Amino acid sequence: MDSRDRLTPSTAFIDELNASVHRAMAETSPAQPPQLTSYPEQTQLWAAATTAVESMHTELEQLSLDIHAHPEVAFTEKHAVAAITEVLRNHGVVATAPAFGLDTAIHAEVGTGKVAVAFLSEYDALPEIGHACGHNLIASAGVGAFLATVAAVREVGREDDVRIVFLGTPAEEGHSGKEYLIRGGAFEGLDAAVMVHPFDMDIASHAWIGRRSATVTFHGVSAHASSQPFMGRNALDAATLLYQGLGLLRQQMPPSDRLHAVISEGGQRPSVIPDTSTVELYVRSLHSDTLVDLSARVTDVCRGAALMTGCSVDIAWDPHPPTLPVRNNQALAQRWRESQAQQGVDALPAGVVPESIAASTDFGNVSQLVPGIHPLIKIAPEGVALHTEQLREAAASPEGLAAMRRAATSLAHVGLDVLFDREFRSVVHAEFVETGPQIRVNEIFP
Ligand SMILES: [Zn+2]
Ligand SMILES: [Zn+2]
Repeated sequence: MDSRDRLTPSTAFIDELNASVHRAMAETSPAQPPQLTSYPEQTQLWAAATTAVESMHTELEQLSLDIHAHPEVAFTEKHAVAAITEVLRNHGVVATAPAFGLDTAIHAEVGTGKVAVAFLSEYDALPEIGHACGHNLIASAGVGAFLATVAAVREVGREDDVRIVFLGTPAEEGHSGKEYLIRGGAFEGLDAAVMVHPFDMDIASHAWIGRRSATVTFHGVSAHASSQPFMGRNALDAATLLYQGLGLLRQQMPPSDRLHAVISEGGQRPSVIPDTSTVELYVRSLHSDTLVDLSARVTDVCRGAALMTGCSVDIAWDPHPPTLPVRNNQALAQRWRESQAQQGVDALPAGVVPESIAASTDFGNVSQLVPGIHPLIKIAPEGVALHTEQLREAAASPEGLAAMRRAATSLAHVGLDVLFDREFRSVVHAEFVETGPQIRVNEIFP
């Protein structure tokens, strides 16, 4: 036996990955602040939004810290909803909650025009660990961006020309709250939908892969494992073959895709052939089409495992609606970079950080219907992962709160340009059309 500590994973790969990201960062030209000459009121509107966020920074920080101190898991976010609607009310905005059929969704609108932008806030926490995904900062950034956009639009007296929408979107963690909002009509008639997410780097456009889940149940025949094993049909064998089959399938998958599974039920005692077993699995893929394909292949592996063991199988796909990959709008992302540059932050463009470092979000479903961005803001030292205690602490730190304020300002800047820069709006729209048709998740996974 060598003395290598097998319980300590080698950092060789992640070190090389990080080094290659840093080499790519060094080769990327930093974003420059924009000239602000795209349309007549641009300088005034951007300045008004910046000032508005500055003037309410204490309220936004308190809101973040309040939500952070009262973590609520998916669909139970009552404290957060009350806190957010109170801040909106203090700024003269009447918000509706419940909204779109969800108890803890929020809807507010200002303006009566046809051109419309939505600012999204998440506020759910993780079970046990709390705000380890920093959604408390997303909440304040969305509220701040919405109110700053309203303030800027009022300053130039253009409320009749535009519609500014705030959407409080519950239940992102382990669920797909935004998909229910989509089905409730929350995203109809919008020109863009924007939000931010905390991270350990500033990235304007990053890959988020689509995700489906399934509960797979095998049914066999129980028998005494010693006296009459030949009279049994072993459901645990089926689960084992499925688990092995997924392992073999991995080699034939695209490199960005992911499969995870656990056997959550596999029998009671060794002397009894198990007649039931259950496997919980996730399938993730970089594109909607490849998510469809990978799901079909996994279904085949489930059926094959059942056939080999003489069991039957029930495959319950999608106990929650699936999430689609995020379709980042590069025109919007570029404007985000310019606004962040104006505030001294260099947000990386697409392609610097590899697509293999990716998780999933229900914003994917939104971004397949409406042009959108989901940029990442650095709130923690590099290397701190989402869903960790360090990230949770960072989500209430001065650095986290400062990043949230800059994010509120930049979301407002991007939103204002969508609302008032006709040429920019058409570029955003044209890019969206060029990257494929709108995709509704319940149409590709009926
Ligand atoms: Zn998360
Ligand atoms: Zn999150």
